[in-house]
Parts: sequence; C-alpha cells; structure tokens
Amino acid sequence: MASVDVLSARFATYDKMYMHEAREQSFADWPFREECNCTPEKMAKAGFVHCPSENEPDVACCFFCLIELEGWEPDDNPWTEHSKRSPDCGFLTMKKDLTELTVADYYRMEKERLKVYLKKVCHKKMAYFRDGIDHMLESLTSQLDTLT
Ligand SMILES: [Zn+2]
Repeated sequence: MASVDVLSARFATYDKMYMHEAREQSFADWPFREECNCTPEKMAKAGFVHCPSENEPDVACCFFCLIELEGWEPDDNPWTEHSKRSPDCGFLTMKKDLTELTVADYYRMEKERLKVYLKKVCHKKMAYFRDGIDHMLESLTSQLDTLT
C-alpha cells in the first residue's frame, strides 16, 4: 500500500497519464507480454500505470482512482480486475473516449481525480493518527499500572 508521499507523487505526475501511449510506455519492464491477458496494451487500456518497486515488481496503479493491484496472473483481465476492485472509478465509468473530451470534461475529471486523491490521503492520515492514539493509550495504561 502506497504511503502518503508516494500517493502525492503519483497524483502530481499522473495528469500526464490520460494518454494511453504514456501509460503503455510505463510497462517497458512488465513481465507479461505475450500469450496472456494482461499485456502492456491491455493494462494501459484499463487505465493502469506500471509502478514497480524492488519488492513488488508487478504493481500497477490506476492513474485516475489510484487503486494499486499486484500479484497479476497471465489470465487476469485488467479491465475486469480494475472494475471488481474499484467499480466507481471515474476512468472506467467514463462514457466518452478520451480523445472526445471537451476542456470542461477534462476539468470535471481532474476535479474528481483530486477528490479521490484527497480522500485517500485523509484516510491514511486518520489511520496514522488512530495508531498514534492507540500507542499513547497503551503507554499511559501501562504507566498507570505501575503506579497502582
Ligand atoms: Zn481506476
């Protein structure tokens, strides 16, 4: 799961990933290339960008909803996997081809992409604070126990 810093970096650069070619080029080192369902072309068509790390070489992230999927199998259908895990993704539910978008459509989508990103960052920060509170409570409880 991506950290807030990674999410921020992706959000800031993925505005360039509206273009299918840019997404497909990110899959230069993708392991599934032939005789399978999740080729670079199909991954890009389903909105994914390849964002591998040292420990997770097959992580792909949707440029729009920022969902991360890994553990791909050759028979996985990228579009189906994406819609199973993120059915409300604004890219998947878009009615037009990207080449037909008006400037107003594009800004509406960018506003939606920003909302998705901010929600993810808020959820991560809330989880971080919850963990901090839990640790503080444990620490205070054990300090109290030593006093009694
Ligand atoms: Zn998505």
